[in-house]
Amino acid sequence: MQRNEIIDFLKNRVELFRGFDTARLEQLLDGSRATTFEQSEAVIEFGSRGHFLGVLLDGELSVSVVDDEGIRRELGRIEAGRIFGEMALMTGDRTMADVVCLVRCEVLLIPDAVFMATVMTTPDAVMQLSRLLTDRAKQVAYDQNRRGLADRAEVQDADPHGFALQSRRPHLLLVVNCGSSSLKYSLFDTDRPADRAEGIVERIGDDARHRTGGETVSVSCATHEEAFHLMVADLIAKKRIRSAADITAVGHRVVHGGEQFSAAAVIDDAVAGQIGELTALAPLHNPVNLKGIELARAAFPAAVHVAVFDTTFHHTLPPYAYLYGLPYRYYEKRGVRRYGFHGTSHAYVSLRAAQFLKRPYNSLEIVTCHLGSGASVCAVDHGRSVDTSMGFTPTAGLLMGTRSGDVDPGALAFIAQQDNLDGAALDSLVNRRSGLLGISGISNDMRELEAAAANGEHRALLAIKTFCYTLRKYIGAYVAAMQGIDAVVFTGGIGENSAGVRYLACQGLACMGIAIDEAKNKEACGRAEPVDISAADSRVKVLVVPTDESLMIARDTLQAVEREMARTDGMGQAKIPLEVSAHHVHLSAAHVALLFGEGHRLTPVSELSQPGQFACAEKVDLIGPKGTVKNVRVLGPDRAETQVEISMTEQFKLGIHPPIRESGDLAGTPGLRLAGPAGTVELDKGVICAMRHIHMSPHDALTMGLRDRYVVRVVVEGDRELVFGDVMVRVSPAYRLAMHIDTDEANAAGIGGDAVGHIESIQSRA
Ligand code: ADP
Repeated sequence: MQRNEIIDFLKNRVELFRGFDTARLEQLLDGSRATTFEQSEAVIEFGSRGHFLGVLLDGELSVSVVDDEGIRRELGRIEAGRIFGEMALMTGDRTMADVVCLVRCEVLLIPDAVFMATVMTTPDAVMQLSRLLTDRAKQVAYDQNRRGLADRAEVQDADPHGFALQSRRPHLLLVVNCGSSSLKYSLFDTDRPADRAEGIVERIGDDARHRTGGETVSVSCATHEEAFHLMVADLIAKKRIRSAADITAVGHRVVHGGEQFSAAAVIDDAVAGQIGELTALAPLHNPVNLKGIELARAAFPAAVHVAVFDTTFHHTLPPYAYLYGLPYRYYEKRGVRRYGFHGTSHAYVSLRAAQFLKRPYNSLEIVTCHLGSGASVCAVDHGRSVDTSMGFTPTAGLLMGTRSGDVDPGALAFIAQQDNLDGAALDSLVNRRSGLLGISGISNDMRELEAAAANGEHRALLAIKTFCYTLRKYIGAYVAAMQGIDAVVFTGGIGENSAGVRYLACQGLACMGIAIDEAKNKEACGRAEPVDISAADSRVKVLVVPTDESLMIARDTLQAVEREMARTDGMGQAKIPLEVSAHHVHLSAAHVALLFGEGHRLTPVSELSQPGQFACAEKVDLIGPKGTVKNVRVLGPDRAETQVEISMTEQFKLGIHPPIRESGDLAGTPGLRLAGPAGTVELDKGVICAMRHIHMSPHDALTMGLRDRYVVRVVVEGDRELVFGDVMVRVSPAYRLAMHIDTDEANAAGIGGDAVGHIESIQSRA
């Protein structure tokens, strides 16, 4: 079709564009592409990300999906004049169907950015789209099939976690890691993400040198400011940029985000101020990170600056995992608690492991071991860090190159008294003279220790053995913490290169299903890609995954920039009613029969706020190993699997400890006994503590700029403003806007029946 024919076609045949004037349609066409697809060719494939809205100009398309039995089922057909691809585009989900040409087709592809700029800014079009979304969602039996389909789509996606840096518009992303005497940088071009430019200026202020592209040169560099000039000059010399003005976004590694930052944050003066205030918690790191931010904001004034914190991944640690056995006021007044570090690396390698294993990230229990000159272990339970070995400072946990790791605090008091050490001297002892170096007396470098041990230096051997023994204990502890394990991941200089450490750390863990293949383990050193080193009969996968913190920071920066762009006024303005979610039980049809008698049908007594759901007259007793909770309401309709949601206090009463999970995610959860008038049911799983969540319709999501499975922070208005992080957004045409929180949490916060909240920010996407 010719351009003017397309314009006529859009105006007259495509409902969505009826209200558009010619100028707007011209604008739309300028950024779009008309293409021909041959018969049987796929226009969109199942599992791909939505990058465009399609308009069928001529021909006919078939929409189909392969079901669980492997049979392809046609969901519908698309005729000329209809649009497609809008679901994935607006929900941010992967496409849940294949769209294939039945005949030769002519298609107009409207890219994401053009769609956002022209269609989503037209209120009529937004209304139409949200109606369409609702209808389509009903067709694909949204809630029932979605989880399975979404999991399959994630697994088939070649880039499920965004490491290919696909973006709405091209970016030159600079990642900056500013240390006390160094500046490390990487430049990513989103059009060519594999081809990055990297460099490091080291020993700033003292015999400085600049390493870049395999070369090291001595440079004169007395300050970080001069280091920034060297960096920009290097990127210009390499023809990566023409000038500093080309950089569109800068991601800053910041060590400490305290309790405030539960996600990467776009930096404005307020955020910079908060990073500065966290200096008390990270006196060595945050000031110099902040210095880097100030210099970069001056050098790249037009770029968006984003802080990516080492601590945020551990934001999901529950209080019983982050509290120390000290008087509570040290936590309340001084912020003494476990924060954990290396979060960027733990998040990266766990995501990569899920991708490598072709398993949905949120279904896995993973222990990640980051073993570099600093070392830490993390328990990643269904995508959430639930425990980690570093603590208030990075000195805790494993012993490291020169850091002690865990030491009896009484021993430190004893040493301080005996040797008359003040705080600074003690600090230096545990951070600079301990660990591998302290025990061996030879080196802090694992390579040198392995060589020395091979030569019979028994203290080198002892240092290595102590290191591996502590690591093995942590792996075991985290299997217990997560109540299960699917994968152990090794990374960092030692984790990626020392077969000996990996072997010793996993030795004897076959009792937990963890077994290494010695030959594979030996070969898996210094590789660029993940390697599976588990034995053929190992139930648990053991992987070596090279870490890439720069790429992770680039990804998080890009996501923060895109979220900022998508941020709408609607987000902060929409009032979300809060509902306190009392304990309840969803039953399977089989369990209804066992508890209430064969042929029994649940008796609805009242509608719940979510359409289609109802409270029933029926109640059951929950019987745990310790105690009983009586008369817990059953909610209908019945479900595929029985699920019990209880509050924190009731967990204690019952004597069980369920994990925080999304509704429906029941693998590995504890069970209990249910008692009804006609009998009892022994559940072997199904008890959860529900994750905080917000239900909303597609229209709410569109107007707030949110998408299904976003994790957000919500401000609850009241006498005292409260912020709830880690709230999952669930979008479905069947939902009405409401946020659900746990009874205990509501009581603790003094939240009453008519409380409302609004979205403060988007944390991430689950
Ligand atoms: P950083 O935390 O400073 O980034 P790295 O992740 O580079 O540190 O890890 C440094 C550690 O990795 C050192 O102890 C080094 O000896 C160890 N390492 C590097 N290569 C090997 C190897 N081939 N065998 C054993 N250890 C190694």
